Amino acid sequence: MGSFRDDESIHSFQSLQSDSTILSSAQGEKIFVAVRLRPLDDKEIARNEASEWECINNTTIMHNKEIPEKSMLPTTYVFDKVFACESSTKEVYEDGLKNVALSVVTGINTSIFAYGQTSSGKTYTMRGISEYAMADIFDYVHEHDEREFVLKFSAIEIYNESVRDLLGMDSTPLRLLDDPERGTVVEKLTEVTVRDWSHLKELMAICEAERQIGETSLNATSSRSHQIIRLTVESYAQDFSSADDLSSLAASVSFVDLAGSERSSQTLAVGSRLKEGSHINRSLLTLGTVIRKLRHVPFRDSKLTRILQNSLGGNARTAIICTMSPAHCHAEQSRNTLLFAACAKQVSTNAQVNV
Ligand code: ADP
Ligand code: MG
Repeated sequence: MGSFRDDESIHSFQSLQSDSTILSSAQGEKIFVAVRLRPLDDKEIARNEASEWECINNTTIMHNKEIPEKSMLPTTYVFDKVFACESSTKEVYEDGLKNVALSVVTGINTSIFAYGQTSSGKTYTMRGISEYAMADIFDYVHEHDEREFVLKFSAIEIYNESVRDLLGMDSTPLRLLDDPERGTVVEKLTEVTVRDWSHLKELMAICEAERQIGETSLNATSSRSHQIIRLTVESYAQDFSSADDLSSLAASVSFVDLAGSERSSQTLAVGSRLKEGSHINRSLLTLGTVIRKLRHVPFRDSKLTRILQNSLGGNARTAIICTMSPAHCHAEQSRNTLLFAACAKQVSTNAQVNV
Protein backbone atom coordinates (compact mmCIF):
# COMPACT_ATOMS: atom_id res chain seq x y z
CA MET A 1 0.00 0.00 0.00
CA GLY A 2 1.36 3.48 -0.84
CA SER A 3 1.81 5.66 2.19
CA PHE A 4 0.96 9.25 3.01
CA ARG A 5 3.69 11.57 4.14
CA ASP A 6 2.47 14.04 6.72
CA ASP A 7 5.43 16.34 6.43
CA GLU A 8 4.53 19.83 5.26
CA SER A 9 8.10 21.09 5.32
CA ILE A 10 8.92 19.97 1.80
CA HIS A 11 8.41 22.76 -0.64
CA SER A 12 10.58 22.47 -3.68
CA PHE A 13 9.27 19.91 -6.08
CA GLN A 14 9.92 19.49 -9.69
CA SER A 15 6.99 18.95 -11.93
CA LEU A 16 8.15 16.20 -14.24
CA GLN A 17 6.84 14.87 -17.46
CA SER A 18 4.38 12.04 -17.40
CA ASP A 19 5.33 8.51 -16.54
CA SER A 20 5.19 7.13 -20.06
CA THR A 21 3.88 3.79 -18.84
CA ILE A 22 0.70 5.41 -17.58
CA LEU A 23 -1.69 7.51 -19.57
CA SER A 24 0.70 7.86 -22.45
CA SER A 25 -2.08 9.29 -24.57
CA ALA A 26 -1.76 12.50 -22.58
CA GLN A 27 0.80 14.04 -24.87
CA GLY A 28 -0.14 16.07 -27.86
CA GLU A 29 -3.81 15.83 -27.11
CA LYS A 30 -6.13 18.75 -27.54
CA ILE A 31 -8.48 19.86 -24.87
CA PHE A 32 -11.19 17.30 -24.06
CA VAL A 33 -14.62 18.81 -24.60
CA ALA A 34 -17.84 17.08 -23.60
CA VAL A 35 -21.46 18.23 -23.49
CA ARG A 36 -24.04 17.02 -21.00
CA LEU A 37 -27.74 17.57 -21.53
CA ARG A 38 -29.66 17.50 -18.27
CA PRO A 39 -33.23 16.14 -18.02
CA LEU A 40 -36.15 18.57 -18.11
CA ASP A 41 -36.82 19.70 -14.55
CA ASP A 42 -40.21 19.67 -12.81
CA LYS A 43 -40.99 23.28 -13.69
CA GLU A 44 -40.12 22.73 -17.34
CA ILE A 45 -42.27 19.59 -17.41
CA ALA A 46 -45.13 21.49 -15.73
CA ARG A 47 -44.93 24.02 -18.58
CA ASN A 48 -45.23 21.17 -21.08
CA GLU A 49 -41.78 21.82 -22.47
CA ALA A 50 -40.28 19.19 -24.73
CA SER A 51 -36.58 18.64 -25.26
CA GLU A 52 -35.31 20.74 -28.16
CA TRP A 53 -32.06 18.84 -28.42
CA GLU A 54 -31.36 15.33 -29.56
CA CYS A 55 -28.23 13.35 -28.85
CA ILE A 56 -27.79 11.45 -32.11
CA ASN A 57 -24.93 9.35 -30.81
CA ASN A 58 -22.29 9.66 -28.09
CA THR A 59 -20.44 12.45 -29.88
CA THR A 60 -23.18 14.38 -31.71
CA ILE A 61 -25.95 16.66 -30.57
CA MET A 62 -28.57 18.24 -32.81
CA HIS A 63 -31.05 21.07 -32.42
CA ASN A 64 -34.33 19.55 -33.51
CA LYS A 65 -36.12 22.89 -34.05
CA GLU A 66 -35.78 24.75 -37.29
CA ILE A 67 -33.73 27.91 -37.03
CA PRO A 68 -33.80 30.71 -39.61
CA GLU A 69 -31.34 29.92 -42.38
CA LYS A 70 -29.91 33.42 -42.38
CA SER A 71 -28.70 33.00 -38.80
CA MET A 72 -25.96 30.75 -40.22
CA LEU A 73 -25.88 28.84 -36.97
CA PRO A 74 -25.08 25.16 -37.12
CA THR A 75 -27.79 22.72 -36.04
CA THR A 76 -25.45 19.78 -35.43
CA TYR A 77 -22.39 19.81 -33.20
CA VAL A 78 -19.74 17.15 -32.70
CA PHE A 79 -17.60 16.87 -29.56
CA ASP A 80 -15.37 14.33 -27.90
CA LYS A 81 -18.39 13.11 -25.99
CA VAL A 82 -22.05 14.02 -25.78
CA PHE A 83 -24.06 12.76 -22.83
CA ALA A 84 -27.83 12.46 -23.15
CA CYS A 85 -30.11 13.22 -20.21
CA GLU A 86 -30.23 9.56 -19.18
CA SER A 87 -26.46 9.46 -18.59
CA SER A 88 -25.32 9.27 -15.00
CA THR A 89 -22.51 11.40 -13.61
CA LYS A 90 -20.55 8.17 -13.17
CA GLU A 91 -20.76 7.60 -16.94
CA VAL A 92 -19.72 11.20 -17.63
CA TYR A 93 -16.72 10.66 -15.38
CA GLU A 94 -15.68 7.24 -16.66
CA ASP A 95 -16.08 8.16 -20.29
CA GLY A 96 -13.25 10.66 -20.68
CA LEU A 97 -12.87 12.84 -17.60
CA LYS A 98 -11.34 10.05 -15.52
CA ASN A 99 -8.29 9.83 -17.78
CA VAL A 100 -7.79 13.56 -17.62
CA ALA A 101 -8.18 13.75 -13.83
CA LEU A 102 -5.86 10.83 -13.14
CA SER A 103 -3.00 12.36 -15.14
CA VAL A 104 -2.25 14.31 -11.98
CA VAL A 105 -0.65 11.24 -10.36
CA THR A 106 1.91 11.21 -13.17
CA GLY A 107 2.96 14.81 -12.51
CA ILE A 108 0.70 16.54 -15.04
CA ASN A 109 -1.24 19.63 -13.98
CA THR A 110 -4.85 19.15 -14.83
CA SER A 111 -8.05 21.18 -14.80
CA ILE A 112 -11.64 20.19 -15.34
CA PHE A 113 -14.23 22.92 -15.94
CA ALA A 114 -17.98 22.93 -15.80
CA TYR A 115 -19.34 25.61 -18.16
CA GLY A 116 -22.95 26.55 -18.84
CA GLN A 117 -25.81 28.80 -17.89
CA THR A 118 -27.21 28.86 -14.37
CA SER A 119 -29.33 25.78 -13.58
CA SER A 120 -27.89 23.76 -16.44
CA GLY A 121 -26.21 21.27 -14.06
CA LYS A 122 -22.64 22.54 -13.52
CA THR A 123 -22.56 22.08 -9.75
CA TYR A 124 -24.48 18.79 -9.92
CA THR A 125 -21.95 17.45 -12.43
CA MET A 126 -18.81 18.86 -10.82
CA ARG A 127 -19.64 17.54 -7.35
CA GLY A 128 -19.92 14.00 -8.67
CA ILE A 129 -16.88 14.28 -10.92
CA SER A 130 -14.61 15.67 -8.18
CA GLU A 131 -15.68 12.98 -5.75
CA TYR A 132 -15.15 10.10 -8.22
CA ALA A 133 -11.79 11.52 -9.26
CA MET A 134 -10.57 11.98 -5.71
CA ALA A 135 -11.68 8.45 -4.80
CA ASP A 136 -9.69 7.09 -7.76
CA ILE A 137 -6.64 9.14 -6.74
CA PHE A 138 -6.90 7.60 -3.27
CA ASP A 139 -7.13 4.11 -4.79
CA TYR A 140 -4.06 4.87 -6.87
CA VAL A 141 -2.15 5.96 -3.76
CA HIS A 142 -3.08 2.76 -1.94
CA GLU A 143 -2.06 0.59 -4.86
CA HIS A 144 1.41 2.12 -5.20
CA ASP A 145 3.60 1.12 -2.27
CA GLU A 146 6.73 1.97 -4.13
CA ARG A 147 5.97 5.67 -3.66
CA GLU A 148 5.21 7.92 -0.76
CA PHE A 149 2.39 10.42 -1.28
CA VAL A 150 1.43 13.83 0.10
CA LEU A 151 -2.04 15.08 -0.87
CA LYS A 152 -2.95 18.72 -0.23
CA PHE A 153 -6.40 20.21 -0.54
CA SER A 154 -7.43 23.84 -1.07
CA ALA A 155 -10.57 25.61 -2.22
CA ILE A 156 -11.35 29.14 -3.33
CA GLU A 157 -14.21 31.18 -4.65
CA ILE A 158 -13.74 34.09 -7.07
CA TYR A 159 -16.48 36.68 -6.92
CA ASN A 160 -16.15 40.07 -8.63
CA GLU A 161 -12.42 39.44 -9.14
CA SER A 162 -12.07 38.97 -5.38
CA VAL A 163 -10.58 35.68 -4.18
CA ARG A 164 -11.95 34.04 -1.01
CA ASP A 165 -10.48 31.10 0.86
CA LEU A 166 -13.23 28.51 1.44
CA LEU A 167 -11.16 26.89 4.21
CA GLY A 168 -9.88 30.12 5.77
CA MET A 169 -10.65 31.57 9.18
CA ASP A 170 -11.86 34.91 7.86
CA SER A 171 -13.31 36.22 4.65
CA THR A 172 -10.60 38.79 3.83
CA PRO A 173 -9.94 38.68 0.09
CA LEU A 174 -6.70 36.96 -0.80
CA ARG A 175 -4.03 38.50 -3.00
CA LEU A 176 -2.32 36.87 -5.94
CA LEU A 177 1.46 36.94 -6.00
CA ASP A 178 3.90 36.11 -8.74
CA ASP A 179 6.36 33.60 -7.38
CA PRO A 180 9.47 33.22 -9.58
CA GLU A 181 9.45 29.44 -9.14
CA ARG A 182 5.84 28.50 -8.76
CA GLY A 183 4.15 31.10 -10.97
CA THR A 184 0.99 32.80 -9.68
CA VAL A 185 0.18 31.78 -6.13
CA VAL A 186 -2.69 32.75 -3.88
CA GLU A 187 -1.11 34.41 -0.85
CA LYS A 188 -2.04 32.91 2.54
CA LEU A 189 -4.30 30.31 1.00
CA THR A 190 -5.12 27.49 3.41
CA GLU A 191 -3.70 24.26 2.09
CA VAL A 192 -4.53 21.22 4.19
CA THR A 193 -2.51 18.01 4.07
CA VAL A 194 -5.10 15.27 3.70
CA ARG A 195 -4.85 12.39 6.18
CA ASP A 196 -7.30 9.96 4.64
CA TRP A 197 -10.51 9.69 2.67
CA SER A 198 -12.83 10.69 5.52
CA HIS A 199 -10.67 13.76 6.18
CA LEU A 200 -11.04 14.75 2.51
CA LYS A 201 -14.82 14.31 2.66
CA GLU A 202 -14.85 16.51 5.76
CA LEU A 203 -12.91 19.23 3.91
CA MET A 204 -15.30 19.06 0.96
CA ALA A 205 -18.25 19.43 3.35
CA ILE A 206 -16.65 22.50 4.98
CA CYS A 207 -16.21 24.10 1.56
CA GLU A 208 -19.78 23.38 0.62
CA ALA A 209 -21.06 24.96 3.85
CA GLU A 210 -18.76 27.96 3.38
CA ARG A 211 -20.00 28.45 -0.16
CA GLN A 212 -23.54 28.61 1.13
CA ILE A 213 -22.64 31.11 3.86
CA GLY A 214 -20.95 33.24 1.19
CA GLU A 215 -24.06 33.17 -0.92
CA THR A 216 -26.18 34.45 1.94
CA SER A 217 -23.82 37.16 3.14
CA LEU A 218 -23.16 38.50 -0.32
CA ASN A 219 -26.82 38.23 -1.14
CA ALA A 220 -25.64 36.44 -4.20
CA THR A 221 -25.97 32.99 -5.55
CA SER A 222 -23.13 30.75 -6.58
CA SER A 223 -24.24 31.37 -10.14
CA ARG A 224 -22.18 34.56 -10.06
CA SER A 225 -18.97 33.17 -8.63
CA HIS A 226 -16.37 30.66 -9.79
CA GLN A 227 -15.33 27.91 -7.39
CA ILE A 228 -12.08 26.01 -7.63
CA ILE A 229 -11.33 22.90 -5.60
CA ARG A 230 -7.75 21.81 -5.95
CA LEU A 231 -5.94 18.64 -4.91
CA THR A 232 -2.16 18.69 -5.14
CA VAL A 233 -0.50 15.29 -5.41
CA GLU A 234 3.17 15.03 -4.50
CA SER A 235 4.93 11.71 -4.58
CA TYR A 236 8.40 10.38 -3.92
CA ALA A 237 10.07 7.13 -4.82
CA GLN A 238 10.59 5.17 -1.59
CA ASP A 239 13.90 4.00 -2.92
CA PHE A 240 15.96 7.19 -2.91
CA SER A 241 18.95 5.44 -4.45
CA SER A 242 17.01 5.29 -7.69
CA ALA A 243 18.33 7.72 -10.25
CA ASP A 244 14.97 7.63 -11.91
CA ASP A 245 13.48 10.87 -13.22
CA LEU A 246 10.33 10.02 -11.35
CA SER A 247 11.95 10.16 -7.91
CA SER A 248 9.71 13.14 -7.14
CA LEU A 249 6.54 14.31 -8.82
CA ALA A 250 4.16 17.15 -8.04
CA ALA A 251 1.07 18.33 -9.83
CA SER A 252 -2.43 19.48 -9.06
CA VAL A 253 -5.89 18.76 -10.34
CA SER A 254 -8.37 21.66 -10.26
CA PHE A 255 -12.13 21.20 -10.39
CA VAL A 256 -13.64 24.46 -11.59
CA ASP A 257 -17.34 25.19 -11.23
CA LEU A 258 -17.68 28.35 -13.34
CA ALA A 259 -20.13 31.20 -12.85
CA GLY A 260 -23.27 31.01 -14.99
CA SER A 261 -22.46 31.87 -18.59
CA GLU A 262 -25.63 33.89 -19.24
CA ARG A 263 -24.96 37.46 -20.24
CA SER A 264 -25.69 40.27 -17.84
CA SER A 265 -28.09 41.87 -20.33
CA GLN A 266 -30.34 38.87 -19.91
CA THR A 267 -30.43 38.99 -16.14
CA LEU A 268 -31.90 42.51 -15.91
CA ALA A 269 -28.55 43.72 -14.70
CA VAL A 270 -28.50 47.00 -12.83
CA GLY A 271 -25.91 48.59 -10.54
CA SER A 272 -23.76 46.04 -8.76
CA ARG A 273 -25.30 43.22 -10.74
CA LEU A 274 -23.98 44.85 -13.87
CA LYS A 275 -20.52 45.00 -12.34
CA GLU A 276 -20.74 41.33 -11.44
CA GLY A 277 -21.86 40.57 -14.94
CA SER A 278 -18.92 42.35 -16.48
CA HIS A 279 -16.50 40.53 -14.16
CA ILE A 280 -18.05 37.19 -15.02
CA ASN A 281 -17.95 38.02 -18.69
CA ARG A 282 -14.33 39.11 -18.43
CA SER A 283 -13.34 35.84 -16.74
CA LEU A 284 -15.27 33.70 -19.16
CA LEU A 285 -14.13 35.69 -22.15
CA THR A 286 -10.50 35.44 -21.06
CA LEU A 287 -10.96 31.76 -20.33
CA GLY A 288 -12.43 31.31 -23.80
CA THR A 289 -9.49 33.14 -25.38
CA VAL A 290 -6.99 31.20 -23.30
CA ILE A 291 -8.55 27.91 -24.24
CA ARG A 292 -8.68 28.80 -27.91
CA LYS A 293 -5.09 29.94 -28.14
CA LEU A 294 -3.30 27.99 -25.42
CA ARG A 295 -0.11 29.84 -26.34
CA HIS A 296 0.93 33.49 -25.91
CA VAL A 297 -2.29 33.99 -24.08
CA PRO A 298 -3.68 36.77 -21.90
CA PHE A 299 -3.63 34.80 -18.65
CA ARG A 300 -3.20 38.02 -16.69
CA ASP A 301 -6.54 39.42 -17.82
CA SER A 302 -8.55 37.70 -15.07
CA LYS A 303 -7.86 36.15 -11.68
CA LEU A 304 -9.45 32.91 -12.78
CA THR A 305 -6.99 32.42 -15.61
CA ARG A 306 -4.03 33.71 -13.56
CA ILE A 307 -4.73 31.17 -10.84
CA LEU A 308 -5.17 28.39 -13.36
CA GLN A 309 -2.26 29.40 -15.57
CA ASN A 310 -0.18 26.31 -14.73
CA SER A 311 -3.16 24.08 -15.37
CA LEU A 312 -3.91 25.41 -18.84
CA GLY A 313 -1.83 24.94 -21.95
CA GLY A 314 1.79 23.81 -22.04
CA ASN A 315 2.02 20.31 -20.66
CA ALA A 316 -1.22 20.60 -18.74
CA ARG A 317 -4.35 18.63 -19.54
CA THR A 318 -7.71 20.34 -19.68
CA ALA A 319 -11.25 19.07 -19.94
CA ILE A 320 -14.46 21.04 -20.19
CA ILE A 321 -17.87 19.66 -19.51
CA CYS A 322 -20.50 21.98 -20.94
CA THR A 323 -23.88 21.54 -19.35
CA MET A 324 -27.16 22.56 -20.93
CA SER A 325 -30.89 22.49 -20.35
CA PRO A 326 -33.00 20.86 -23.04
CA ALA A 327 -35.85 23.37 -22.62
CA HIS A 328 -37.10 25.72 -25.34
CA CYS A 329 -36.87 28.75 -23.04
CA HIS A 330 -33.11 28.12 -22.70
CA ALA A 331 -32.44 27.39 -26.35
CA GLU A 332 -30.43 30.55 -27.00
CA GLN A 333 -28.20 30.01 -23.99
CA SER A 334 -27.79 26.35 -24.88
CA ARG A 335 -26.67 27.38 -28.35
CA ASN A 336 -24.18 29.85 -26.87
CA THR A 337 -22.84 27.05 -24.68
CA LEU A 338 -22.38 24.80 -27.72
CA LEU A 339 -20.62 27.58 -29.61
CA PHE A 340 -18.28 28.10 -26.67
CA ALA A 341 -17.64 24.34 -26.57
CA ALA A 342 -17.03 24.30 -30.32
CA CYS A 343 -14.52 27.14 -29.98
CA ALA A 344 -12.80 25.35 -27.13
CA LYS A 345 -12.43 22.39 -29.44
CA GLN A 346 -11.14 24.72 -32.15
CA VAL A 347 -13.87 23.65 -34.46
CA SER A 348 -14.38 26.53 -36.82
CA THR A 349 -17.83 27.99 -37.09
CA ASN A 350 -18.76 31.13 -38.90
CA ALA A 351 -20.72 32.42 -35.95
CA GLN A 352 -19.80 35.06 -33.43
CA VAL A 353 -19.37 33.56 -29.98
CA ASN A 354 -20.74 35.44 -27.01
CA VAL A 355 -19.74 34.18 -23.60
P1 ADP B 1 -25.86 25.09 -12.03
O1 ADP B 1 -24.76 24.77 -11.07
O2 ADP B 1 -25.43 25.01 -13.46
O3 ADP B 1 -26.54 26.39 -11.74
P2 ADP B 1 -27.18 22.86 -10.76
O4 ADP B 1 -26.07 21.87 -10.82
O5 ADP B 1 -27.42 23.54 -9.46
O6 ADP B 1 -27.00 23.97 -11.90
O7 ADP B 1 -28.48 22.14 -11.30
C1 ADP B 1 -29.77 22.76 -11.26
C2 ADP B 1 -30.80 21.72 -10.81
O8 ADP B 1 -30.90 20.67 -11.75
C3 ADP B 1 -30.44 21.07 -9.48
O9 ADP B 1 -31.59 20.86 -8.74
C4 ADP B 1 -29.82 19.75 -9.91
O10 ADP B 1 -29.98 18.76 -8.91
C5 ADP B 1 -30.58 19.40 -11.17
N1 ADP B 1 -29.77 18.67 -12.14
C6 ADP B 1 -28.74 19.18 -12.85
N2 ADP B 1 -28.22 18.28 -13.70
C7 ADP B 1 -28.92 17.15 -13.51
C8 ADP B 1 -28.88 15.82 -14.10
N3 ADP B 1 -27.98 15.51 -15.05
N4 ADP B 1 -29.76 14.91 -13.65
C9 ADP B 1 -30.69 15.22 -12.72
N5 ADP B 1 -30.80 16.44 -12.13
C10 ADP B 1 -29.93 17.40 -12.52
MG1 MG C 1 -24.02 25.95 -9.51
